[in-house]
Amino acid sequence: MAPSSTQPTPTARPRKARGEGQWALGHREPLNPNERTKKDDNPLHVRDRIENIYAHRGFASIDPADLRGRFRWWGLYTQRKAGIDGGRTAVLEPEELEDEYFMLRVRIDGGALSLAQLRTIADISREFGRDSADITDRQNIQLHWIRIEDVPEIWRRLEAVGLQTTEACGDCPRVVLGSPVAGISTDEVLDATPAIDEILKRYIGDPRYSNLPRKFKTTIGWLVDTPYQANDVSFVGVVHPEYGPGFDLWVGGGLSTNPRLAERLGTWVPLAEIPDVWEGVVGIFRDYGYRRLRHRARLKFLLADWGTAKFREVLEKEYLGRALIDGPSPDLPEKPIDHIGVHKQRDGLNYVGATPVVGRSSGTQLAQLADVVERHGSERVRLTPYQKLLVLDVADDQVESLVAGLRGIGLEARPSAWRRGTMACTGIEYCKLAIVETKALGEGLVSRLEQRLSDFDVDISVHINGCPNACARTQVADIGLKGQLVMDANGRQVEGFQVHLGGGLGMAKGETAGFGRKLRGLKTTADELPGYVERLATNYLADRSSAEESFA
Ligand code: SF4
Repeated sequence: MAPSSTQPTPTARPRKARGEGQWALGHREPLNPNERTKKDDNPLHVRDRIENIYAHRGFASIDPADLRGRFRWWGLYTQRKAGIDGGRTAVLEPEELEDEYFMLRVRIDGGALSLAQLRTIADISREFGRDSADITDRQNIQLHWIRIEDVPEIWRRLEAVGLQTTEACGDCPRVVLGSPVAGISTDEVLDATPAIDEILKRYIGDPRYSNLPRKFKTTIGWLVDTPYQANDVSFVGVVHPEYGPGFDLWVGGGLSTNPRLAERLGTWVPLAEIPDVWEGVVGIFRDYGYRRLRHRARLKFLLADWGTAKFREVLEKEYLGRALIDGPSPDLPEKPIDHIGVHKQRDGLNYVGATPVVGRSSGTQLAQLADVVERHGSERVRLTPYQKLLVLDVADDQVESLVAGLRGIGLEARPSAWRRGTMACTGIEYCKLAIVETKALGEGLVSRLEQRLSDFDVDISVHINGCPNACARTQVADIGLKGQLVMDANGRQVEGFQVHLGGGLGMAKGETAGFGRKLRGLKTTADELPGYVERLATNYLADRSSAEESFA
């Protein structure tokens, strides 16, 4: 049985006679520019042109449809030209906004990295990316300043150690999130890693699923330590009273504009069947997903119109050819799990979760990390969807030395509440869609609040986003900040933020998470943001006795 939904949903619109561009209903024309680009040539084919033409002839030789469209399927975006303010983001032509360098996203499914992989990324960053390396909130690492001439060599090095950039961006299945403690957690009943590996092997880079209406985000894990309700499809661990451990299926989550949390289909999926069920869900998205209007092309809009009962029925009848087993709700944690600090593994060793500041790292730091990890007898690192990292397999007598070693390279295993809870998206430094700066602001915010509110002892999340796209999940933070231009006290238009308060994917058992309240009219300039957050926190502490469970 599919449960009823209590969450806010995008308003379902009456179906228009011309359709929404759904292939399964024969609505293949007219095509918007994005659909045209995909139809003209499968984006996966662009790799051949990069290796054999563009890398030799240089940036100026690149076909615009490849440059701003198909390159994404191989993890490449042109980066924003330095010095262009956010007020011009919406008015400039793409070629005026971009420079001749690329962001390259390395997908790290499940967040799992060996030391050889870590060192390879570090070397590439230092040799080709001006030492840039950001840990994203989807367990990826993003490099900047990449030249087209260097891309084939970068791929060669990445692929030699089992890494890839295939479908790291674009209208296709993106990196698969997984529990950063899969296979080692004392709380885990079933390790979902084999399902992630199987999906990678079968479907990533598969032309059958490389032309979806828009991006498709997945998370698979026993523990609820990824933002499962913000993904197109999620599998969360649950024990069925009759069949035992398996996974609960959620579909249709996505933030950005018109945010919507994923909903349960009420099914129990055994581990071995996850790849087939995943393929069914992505097949529905490919065939029935809306393609006519780009801003309505995520799976969440189809789910809003269909509802969970119809979605499940189509999945079972048209894609799987069998009924799924009804299943119970999983236990949901009361707040997101970020794994920071020192924790026991089930084999008696320890894992240590540490954080940079707002996900900013560097090739130098990643190389230092590999050395520190190796010196302490470990060979495994995991990234988290909260811009953090874990070191696995640490013996008891190595823990304190490791914590000190990490601190020595700028990674803190015992961070302040501010450093722990603050995330920032890429922002205006590199992102062509950005309106405001984010990373440096986040670093400054953390530094100031650590000095001025050093005894703040409440778990808090502050998510800083450079535009409404919400890559750093504006709506689900205690303090969510959506970048936009605002008026300062002198009536000048300056960088600032719309404030959302009291979101959070933390939830009481069995309840559906909610979005932060967008406070009508509450905006702050970027300059005033640190003072604003400080006042908010100070008032919260003063009023703690009357505060409810969540911040704000
Ligand atoms: Fe760019 Fe906006 Fe996403 Fe930030 S939220 S990375 S500015 S698109």
